[in-house]
Amino acid sequence: MSGFNLLHLVTKSQPVALKACGLPSGTCRSKKTWPVTFPKEELRKRLTPEQYHVTQEKGTESAFAGEYAHSKEEGTYTCIVCGTPLFTSDKKFDSGSGWPSFFDLIKKESITLTDDFSYGMHRVETTCSQCGAHLGHLFDDGPRPTGKRYCINSASLGFQPKDAAAAASAGAVAGEAPASSKSEL
Ligand SMILES: [Zn+2]
Repeated sequence: MSGFNLLHLVTKSQPVALKACGLPSGTCRSKKTWPVTFPKEELRKRLTPEQYHVTQEKGTESAFAGEYAHSKEEGTYTCIVCGTPLFTSDKKFDSGSGWPSFFDLIKKESITLTDDFSYGMHRVETTCSQCGAHLGHLFDDGPRPTGKRYCINSASLGFQPKDAAAAASAGAVAGEAPASSKSEL
């Protein structure tokens, strides 16, 4: 019967190897490997249970509970897992959602977008392009000029205060460089 043949064809065509995604970085929606990977044991030690759950198991922290939900401090937000700079404080805005929200990122390639159909809805998942850490979701109801709202878990983020970064580099310069006095001859 033709029905059987069709089924047979479909079944036979299944084990086709996935072709490498030739699309520009950031638009590939079937990416499964990441440039940087960390052993799970190391991450379990280094991250808090919540940071691990959110970044490695696609968890979501409670609204208004995250460390950076209302932070207005100037600085750079990084991936908590691999340290890649993702957002700057000047692109952060108060969305009222209870999660840190940004209307733009530092570099488009730094975040990978994937369709997420969990919980019976369609959302766009945001993932760190370097290590694959789950960050949060992207919505299209953000403010101008981008209209984007990157809704990110505090648990996925590290923060480098602007002042601390400046102080650190100044301290490095003022480090005790031994005065080289040539005493030979
Ligand atoms: Zn990362």
